[in-house]
Amino acid sequence: MTQKLKYERPFIKKMNTGLMNKFGTQNEATAVIDIDGVAIKGLVTEYSSPLFVLSEKQIRRNYRAALRAFNTRYPKVQFAWSYKTNYLNAVCNIFHQEGSWAEVVSGFEYRKALNNGVAGEHIIFNGPQKTTEDLLLAIQNNSLIHIDHFDELYALISLCEETGKKPRVAVRVNMDTGVYPIWDRFGFNYENGEAWSAISKIVASGKMLLVGLHCHIGTFMLSTAAYGVAAAKMSELAIRCKTTLKNPIEYLDLGGGFPSTNTLKGAYLPGVDTVPSVDDFAEVITTTLLEAGFKHEELPLLILENGRVLIDDAGYLLGSVIANKRLSDGRRSVIVDFGVNTLFTSLWYDHKISPAQEASQHTDNVVLYGPLCMNIDMLRESVNLPALEPGDHLVVHKVGAYNITQWMQFITMRPAVVLIDEQRQPHLIRKAETLEYLEMPEVLPEYLKGVK
Ligand SMILES: *Cc1c(COP(=O)(O)O)cnc(C)c1O
Repeated sequence: MTQKLKYERPFIKKMNTGLMNKFGTQNEATAVIDIDGVAIKGLVTEYSSPLFVLSEKQIRRNYRAALRAFNTRYPKVQFAWSYKTNYLNAVCNIFHQEGSWAEVVSGFEYRKALNNGVAGEHIIFNGPQKTTEDLLLAIQNNSLIHIDHFDELYALISLCEETGKKPRVAVRVNMDTGVYPIWDRFGFNYENGEAWSAISKIVASGKMLLVGLHCHIGTFMLSTAAYGVAAAKMSELAIRCKTTLKNPIEYLDLGGGFPSTNTLKGAYLPGVDTVPSVDDFAEVITTTLLEAGFKHEELPLLILENGRVLIDDAGYLLGSVIANKRLSDGRRSVIVDFGVNTLFTSLWYDHKISPAQEASQHTDNVVLYGPLCMNIDMLRESVNLPALEPGDHLVVHKVGAYNITQWMQFITMRPAVVLIDEQRQPHLIRKAETLEYLEMPEVLPEYLKGVK
């Protein structure tokens, strides 16, 4: 018996044949079948799909390259891992093994850093919300408390009186670096004198040790010049602290914010071709500091709190095709088993997505949807992919930053995370969530229980 073929409205569209595009970059549709030599098919079979995979080799390589970029140009450099970028304990411990301190922005992150064995004095406590309990714990552990606003400063002064301790503090400074909008909601402003006023109040109180100055001028910053401006303004404040207040500054913390090589949505050129390197940022920052007028032996320690640039390209998300579908306008669409709730950064980036099995060189533009019953669940509006069958696998690249901390359980639960070590051994570092886990904190009132 012959089956009548289903009619599909004809639709004419340019076919891509896997050639280099005009920028010479490789076509996205090239298959990626392993990560650090570990077969993707095997990973999905063993740990299920979707699955986050992190490369320990790439994390360490990124960290060492960034450290080298700075400590070959400047005598005293210290990195502090930004916990909110990816606070899986396995990840934090890789950075701590490499010598990184911890940079935290909440009470639970602070406690996570302590539990990871970071010495109290190597934890930098940032952020606008630190409870009294958090501040007391940070004072007890001699951590670096970065003051965000005047109310926090006054609260700290009374805690110093209560405890009789002298905490080590820094002031978070915001400023005009030529990149707009200015992140002026964090810290004290440089231009209007507020930062200097906070500094003067701290020193005058005699209750705290003002040891540092901090700024974090933005995130995914594409301008190296902005860091030159920041380093100059921070140096000016530090020198004024020494000369006017006789309070030398031990460290300048320039925050994070360097971009990863992801492509921002709407960008004309791919991120790999446009984003400045860590060396570019290091050159501007260290040159500015070295020429700012510090005596050589009084050069402050330079602290960096980078997050995304150190881990984004070490993270992958593996997923599976659920179905192919023709949209009413003729475009091809593919539905996959991970949505925007799992891949939060798909809201900012056009992530590179590759098929995970050899496929035809012929590709066309498809709309990539997640499995949620929500119209916004679109991962890529247009991505070049070969024909895919249900059950085929895909790899999303550069997802190591801000996904495993911002993902949410919505319709689907959060998937497992695997770390591939430097000997190519996969390790489960976070289990996939289960219904039991999800309902653990729920409480069903007695009167609602039982058969309805
Ligand atoms: C988020 C954050 C960082 C890390 O930012 P990246 O853009 O990921 O480098 C560093 N410092 C502070 C204070 C932050 O809030």
